[in-house]
Amino acid sequence: MKYEIQIDRTGCIACANCYIMDQEHFEGDDEGYSMVIGGETNPSISKGSFDDEDFEYVQEVADMCPVDVISVKKV
Ligand code: SF4
Repeated sequence: MKYEIQIDRTGCIACANCYIMDQEHFEGDDEGYSMVIGGETNPSISKGSFDDEDFEYVQEVADMCPVDVISVKKV
């Protein structure tokens, strides 16, 4: 399934939840703020597309973000 992950990095608090739970799609930058692996990242936004079977799990990871800055949508 194809889907896109987007992180509003302006709200990320660098808690590390997402990239501890899912090391296939998320990683932290040098200061711990989240980025989408292989995506396009600037100080405000990180986004990237995937085509794999992990859509539902990635949604769970997004739901665990304490500040709700991760969105996942099918494309
Ligand atoms: S779970 Fe949310 S607040 Fe925590 S690092 Fe990931 S995007 Fe940032």
